[in-house]
Amino acid sequence: MKVRITSLNPTEIATELGLQPFQGRQVFRWLHQKHVFDFEAMTDLSKELRKELAERAMTSQLTLAHLSTSARSFGTRKALFRLEDGETVEAVLIRDRDRATICLSTQVGCAVKCAFCATGMSGYTRNLNPGEIVEQALYLLKEEGIEDGHPNIVYMGMGEPFRNYDATVRSVRLLMARQGLGIGARRITVSTVGEVPGIRQFAEEGWQIRLSISLHAANNALRSKLVPINRKYPLETLMSAVRDYVNATRRHVTFEWALLNDVNDSPRDAAELAELVSDLQATVNLIPYNPIPEAGFAPPPFAKCEAFRDALLKRSVNTTLRKERGQDINAACGQLRRQLLSA
Ligand code: SAH
Ligand code: SF4
Repeated sequence: MKVRITSLNPTEIATELGLQPFQGRQVFRWLHQKHVFDFEAMTDLSKELRKELAERAMTSQLTLAHLSTSARSFGTRKALFRLEDGETVEAVLIRDRDRATICLSTQVGCAVKCAFCATGMSGYTRNLNPGEIVEQALYLLKEEGIEDGHPNIVYMGMGEPFRNYDATVRSVRLLMARQGLGIGARRITVSTVGEVPGIRQFAEEGWQIRLSISLHAANNALRSKLVPINRKYPLETLMSAVRDYVNATRRHVTFEWALLNDVNDSPRDAAELAELVSDLQATVNLIPYNPIPEAGFAPPPFAKCEAFRDALLKRSVNTTLRKERGQDINAACGQLRRQLLSA
């Protein structure tokens, strides 16, 4: 079987393929900095080596099946990638002035099945491997001709990153590698629905990656309806893991709250949320729901979203709310959230 080279760091490339360390670095640079996936085009390698690599290694596990540009949101590209086994995943690149933000998927589908989420509705198919995760970013940068930019990366596409923990963490390290994109930890955000063992393990990684928790409800009755994993890890368990995470890492966390009309947007919901996060220096990102036809939820009128935000601000909760610009994008990975641009 061919070596899956985009899942490996420079040292591993050299070891797996019996190359000199500097050759491992050369190959890694072609892939991660120049976004060249054809060994033939790696011109600083000898002809023999290029031929040998093409026989023993594969540079690419994804093909671009579709690339769409939003008519209303200039600078947003949504990509559909086909995997080797024919499955597909989505990734999105959003360009905002001089900064690009890339939203990556970690699984084909998702087993968590949140009531309002397009990905959850499609069910779970399989985990992505690290190469399949990083290639989404490499391909989008290549398509957009971005070679030396330092994009933000958000793990908010299809799938629950902490249910594919090892591949997620490995892909983060590959994106951070100095010989590659060299993306700073503070520019990378991983979003979890509240997979508590993952949060606890993440705290041990000893890095500065941003953690975001998809909360959506501040009492167990409602949260268990919206986010079924809450039955396994109720709010008390989740918040205790988040507190330990903050204490261990000294990092602020972010909470995501998809605003659903007449479901979680009342003054009482705001008061409960403020109370829940009051002892944490956290930020709450409010996301007016991006409707999925079959789900049966709608976004609140914008004035109600603003009132919810103001109720949190009044209680000294750091809160963001952006006007949804372009629901025609139909969301990153079924769920594009523009406010993440501020991350
Ligand atoms: N599984 C992870 C990461 C991917 S989802 C998680 O749930 O955190 C990224 C975010 O998009 C989550 O906060 C999720 O609740 C939210 N989301 C999903 N569908 C959405 C929709 N239709 N409109 C707005 N936000 C949505
Ligand atoms: Fe999975 Fe996240 Fe969608 Fe929930 S919101 S179903 S955890 S992808």
